[in-house]
Amino acid sequence: MTAIEAIKLAGQAIIEEKDFLTDLDQAIGDGDHGINMARGFSSVFTKIDALKDDADISMVLKTVGMGLISSVGGASGPLYGTAFLRASAACKDKNAIDAVTAKEMLDAAIKGIQDRGKAVKGEKTMLDALIPASEAIGTGIDAGKNVVECLKDAVEAAQTGVEYTKTIIATKGRASYLAERSIGHQDPGATSSTTMLKALYEYVK
Ligand code: ADP
Ligand code: MG
Ligand code: MG
Repeated sequence: MTAIEAIKLAGQAIIEEKDFLTDLDQAIGDGDHGINMARGFSSVFTKIDALKDDADISMVLKTVGMGLISSVGGASGPLYGTAFLRASAACKDKNAIDAVTAKEMLDAAIKGIQDRGKAVKGEKTMLDALIPASEAIGTGIDAGKNVVECLKDAVEAAQTGVEYTKTIIATKGRASYLAERSIGHQDPGATSSTTMLKALYEYVK
């Protein structure tokens, strides 16, 4: 698999889901999450097309991170941008990603999001998809699963995490302004995180 192909599929999945993500953000935020993410990935695609075909995984992820930071105005731009930059640093000099490296990359991404946004699990953010996904990879590694099997479990855990965000109050980001009125709605960022993980899994499976 090439990293460029994988990122294109993840970005394409986000662009296809633009209206849905925006509708979700309309309910509990300012209705721009799909617009932000689609704009971000369109810009990333231009930057990625300028890379050489043999750009390594770390370089591709770095390009994604910098592209998202420079093109997305909302909270999600710096958060996802930092996540991709940290994931890039966690796979420096690697030509293939095994399950352990995948977990290290996801954990680095999560730590980046937390360094920036100061959120923890249970605050109705993208972390409510990403942290369970990482935990599922860890459980898979302990059970001797390979990276594809671990990713499958990660997607399922992220989907469960999205469902969980419907049941909790937002305490970070714009949705926190709604307090208990945010209950019943799934978090847009948890949804976009899951979409990206799912696209990655569909690609590697
Ligand atoms: P904005 O809220 O600035 O309009 P977006 O709509 O693009 O930005 O992104 C909103 C998403 O960002 C939320 O659904 C949530 O998942 C995520 N988010 C917001 N604040 C935080 C935070 N502090 N930590 C982690 N994720 C956050
Ligand atoms: Mg928004
Ligand atoms: Mg906004």
